[in-house]
Amino acid sequence: MTKVAIGIDIGGTSTKLGAVDENGQIHFQCSLSTDKYADFESFTNVIAKTIRHELEQGTQYLELAGIGIGAPHGVRRRGTIEHAANLPWSGVLPLKESLEDLLGIEVIVTNDANAAAMGEKVFGGAKGMDDFVMITLGTGLGSAIISNGMLIEGMDGFAGELGHVTYNHINGRYCRCGRRGCLETYVSATGIKRTIFKLLADHFGPSELRGVSFDDLSTKMISESAHRGDQIALEAFEYTGKILGSKLAETVQHTNPEAIFLLGGLAQAGDYIFKPAKKYLDESLLHVFKDKVQVLPSELLANSAPVVGAASLVWHKHNHELIAQ
Ligand SMILES: [Zn+2]
Repeated sequence: MTKVAIGIDIGGTSTKLGAVDENGQIHFQCSLSTDKYADFESFTNVIAKTIRHELEQGTQYLELAGIGIGAPHGVRRRGTIEHAANLPWSGVLPLKESLEDLLGIEVIVTNDANAAAMGEKVFGGAKGMDDFVMITLGTGLGSAIISNGMLIEGMDGFAGELGHVTYNHINGRYCRCGRRGCLETYVSATGIKRTIFKLLADHFGPSELRGVSFDDLSTKMISESAHRGDQIALEAFEYTGKILGSKLAETVQHTNPEAIFLLGGLAQAGDYIFKPAKKYLDESLLHVFKDKVQVLPSELLANSAPVVGAASLVWHKHNHELIAQ
């Protein structure tokens, strides 16, 4: 008999779900379309049905230890999703209560970056670390801060959200939050694409990215162009890393972490993003912090990180209860 925690990652278009044991091994994984369900109740019913079905299908007997969920605007202390702009349902959604009623097992809800940070602590490169920062670089920039071994959540669970700290509020880029110059408009998959288009408009030089449409452009293409020596791509990484590094210096001065982990497509660009981020981080730091904080790639596998991170919420709680006894 193997105990598993179900990890669920709710995104705007798809929801991923998987069973993860306490060693981080995935026993099953599946996904469903989030945007297919007009009302929240039918969505939670399908989630519960899928979990029951998958547990019954397995060749091995799996015992359910709990359910962890990472969702945009997920609020742990209330077990809700609150006013998430990119989900099909508006308002305050009682996710914990709905699934606990349907499945009769404890459900822990938090936002997606917090879940990734917990995954890094339980199964990834932050094992044994009590002070670190997690940055997820996707369409936007998500982040979480672990301090003294605890997730910094704040009153509504939105503490440590670096995506919307301001890099340039006067004439910076317009952000989906309605303000200007937020960090994620520069440092994210979308941010670096905006930088590429700005550089292409400002320079005459040749670039293999000229002629690629905004929607077709990906961080993988930008990395590959940089690898072939494309000046626009190289400059875009330098610019992105510079902004990331200099803003991270402020976070280091607020929280004094041992390491900063980067996860997501942009982080997979390796040295192109890590080198300038480290360089400008160290340049911007107060003397007492210099050369002490590591900037590291996440050790979670990119495609399973959200599900493993969500499931780790259950294992982290379980481990702490064992220690407390
Ligand atoms: Zn913003």
